[in-house]
Amino acid sequence: MRAEPASEATDFPSTCALALYVHVPWCLRKCPYCDFNSHEAGGAIPEARYVEALQADLQAALPLVSGREVRSIFFGGGTPSLLSVPAVGNLLDAVSAVLPLESGCEITLEANPGAADETKFRGFREVGVTRLSLGVQSFDDARLAAIGRVHDGEAARRALDGALRHFERVNVDLMYALPGQTVAQAAGDMRIAIERGPAHLSAYQLTIEPNTWFAHQRPELPGEDAATEMQETLEAMLGEAGYAHYETSAFARPQAACRHNLNYWHFGDYLGIGPGAHSKLSADGRIVRQTRHRQPKAYIEGARRGHAVHEEQVVATADLGFEFMMNALRLTAGFPVGLFRERTGLELAAVEEPLRAAEARGLIERPPGCIRPTRLGRRFLNDLLQLFLP
Ligand code: SF4
Repeated sequence: MRAEPASEATDFPSTCALALYVHVPWCLRKCPYCDFNSHEAGGAIPEARYVEALQADLQAALPLVSGREVRSIFFGGGTPSLLSVPAVGNLLDAVSAVLPLESGCEITLEANPGAADETKFRGFREVGVTRLSLGVQSFDDARLAAIGRVHDGEAARRALDGALRHFERVNVDLMYALPGQTVAQAAGDMRIAIERGPAHLSAYQLTIEPNTWFAHQRPELPGEDAATEMQETLEAMLGEAGYAHYETSAFARPQAACRHNLNYWHFGDYLGIGPGAHSKLSADGRIVRQTRHRQPKAYIEGARRGHAVHEEQVVATADLGFEFMMNALRLTAGFPVGLFRERTGLELAAVEEPLRAAEARGLIERPPGCIRPTRLGRRFLNDLLQLFLP
């Protein structure tokens, strides 16, 4: 447990809606590029014990969040579609028994085309999941094999078609700049997705992260220029097809932005349960961050004893401006100026100097009532954010 200096108590409200994240830490196989907290299942997952642990974790967390309405629930991973339909249903019942769900609460579940079929999708819908996020990455067999995915292109197409039959709100995750990929191939993947018309698409460039298999066995990736051309091509295709580019990697039809992720980008509060899950909660004029035990076994044992939290710290006041901007400036529309005070408890004057510097460099613009990144600011987001470092 690590303690940091407490931020000064401020009077910002702690009653804003809450997002709930539920981490499912197992996958059929570990992908060589993946640095998420995911572990090869190596057989059946300990589902019953895990669901019990999540429920115990939620109970223990209640004093921090009780009475707050839940605006969104997100089952992320790992591969949440490895959970059975009754397990997801039981978890949703357990949540709604202790916390009020806002009307129209968005409930997303991430699915891997290699670890779920249409029958399961229908089951998830029936127990209350409202949005399915499919980790497709590519529809091209050779590219999928190169990044170690457990499914092929046909399984990805079948999963997407099945998901669309049961969910109005489907997200497709695609990756580009894959080993050996050409611009035309990346565009081909996007074309297949767009033709099927999901409400939401995310496009991520493959990057090599430390502590992954690819960091040790580096594959040959398309060069910087090719990656930029892919990015621009995909963005243009999505724009022509009517998807708004509302966040660095996210594109949505009107009214179909992901509410759960918007809450992160608006520096809202969230409770994360499950191994390694993060929480950010405002209470008594302070913002507290928590991290749960990372290893599934340690988490399950800890949660059952009422000690799922591994680390807790109060965010220092000096860090709040940067933390807010790191999220809010990812959004194409930026943020209403009032949100800064609402979410940090600080006056905008606390970041006026870096705001002026960013404006002078053409990285942000400030139309009445709003602050947003310019095209240049979105392209050089890291440079923009550095201005706000404490
Ligand atoms: S399926 Fe997703 S979470 Fe699991 S190892 Fe692959 S990239 Fe990571």
